[in-house]
Amino acid sequence: MAEAVVKPRIRGFICTTAHPAGCASNVNAQIQVAEAARKDGAGSLRVLVIGASTGYGLAARIAAGAMYGAGSVGVFFERESNGAKSGTPGFYNTAAYHRYAMENGLISANVNGDAYSHEIKRKTLELVASRLGEVDMVIYSLASPKRTDPDTGEIYQSVLNPIGETYVGKTIDLNREVINEVTVEPATDEGIRGTVGVMGGDDLCLWSEALLEAGLLAEGARIVPFSYIGPALTWPIYRSGTIGRAKEHLERTTKAIEGRLRSTVGGRAMVSVNKAVITQASAAIPVVPLYISLLYRIMRERGVHEDPIQQMVRLFSDHVGPGGTPSVDGEDRIRLDDLELEASVQREIDTVWPTITTENFRALTDYDAYKRGFRQLFGFEVDGVDYDEPVELEAEI
Ligand code: NAD
Repeated sequence: MAEAVVKPRIRGFICTTAHPAGCASNVNAQIQVAEAARKDGAGSLRVLVIGASTGYGLAARIAAGAMYGAGSVGVFFERESNGAKSGTPGFYNTAAYHRYAMENGLISANVNGDAYSHEIKRKTLELVASRLGEVDMVIYSLASPKRTDPDTGEIYQSVLNPIGETYVGKTIDLNREVINEVTVEPATDEGIRGTVGVMGGDDLCLWSEALLEAGLLAEGARIVPFSYIGPALTWPIYRSGTIGRAKEHLERTTKAIEGRLRSTVGGRAMVSVNKAVITQASAAIPVVPLYISLLYRIMRERGVHEDPIQQMVRLFSDHVGPGGTPSVDGEDRIRLDDLELEASVQREIDTVWPTITTENFRALTDYDAYKRGFRQLFGFEVDGVDYDEPVELEAEI
């Protein structure tokens, strides 16, 4: 056992400490949202969540557990405390979800390691077989800067560059809290290939084949990876850039997997296009934190704001939950980004965006909420937590 007082250590879009009690409180708040949408008598649900410890994957796991009593296996890559330093937020989030699952008689099993490796896939399949028997749903929610190809050993690095042209745009410097013009050079072919190698569909394809081969996908099983499209404002850096190229690859791969699932287990594979939210992954993308600060202000004012848990509750209740029929766009994608992309919301973004300056960004956007939301990802600035009290750094998952 190791107790310590934990304070935030933040540099730009990185925080190197995490508060166990704050993370637990965040998870409990999400559980409450999902429990309020509980579907009684909806039947059993068994879920594998790949990328289950933070952001959208964590919210999906919580939604499945708290809405349907789902049993779940979660895969993630997190660091536990070494006794002196805190672990990562995803470790504490998982410990909190696991505690909830144990208290409520839900199956919860965890695999902490590199999901891209054969070894972790093997371990996960063994755990799915022994704890769940088979799965009805696979949520694929990895976000990573690099991937080692398990067959060739090649290391792919993901980059955030435009393609073809230099991008000059507005962004916020999270250290100095000033609005800057950022210039991002176009990606090299190597950069594009690397990003597709990490965030494209190759790894999802390996997971699907491994699950099929092991006979672990139940009749009618669904595989749901996540994507983002966003408004034209962010396209040069997102959808038309390296990461967008990877997402297109993921979407094409998902269509191929859909064919395989239909013909084997009568299942479905569909991308869910989610809205922009504050996560560790999105904080690293130029332009996006400022866009999210403005988006949150506008969506909150209109009463249509959603965090990952509200998005995932909607994913299950309107689309992929037991007995649900997904509604999809012309490309076979579930669109949870409908409220973000609603015309009047984006019109307001387009009007305000060009007027944002260092002097007025706090008034025009909800940057303070962004900053707080970012700190909360690490368990800080959470109501009801006493940050001067020592807290236990070790936890069970
Ligand atoms: P996140 O950083 O909060 O979560 C990433 C998860 O992946 C964590 O559980 C982490 O442990 C896990 N992970 C990373 N590398 C791993 C590895 N090698 N092995 C095992 N686990 C690993 O990210 P997020 O923002 O929730 O993104 C999840 C997905 O949602 C991504 O596909 C992202 O593109 C998509 N998405 C995000 C947003 C957004 O605004 N954040 C919007 C739409 C779609």
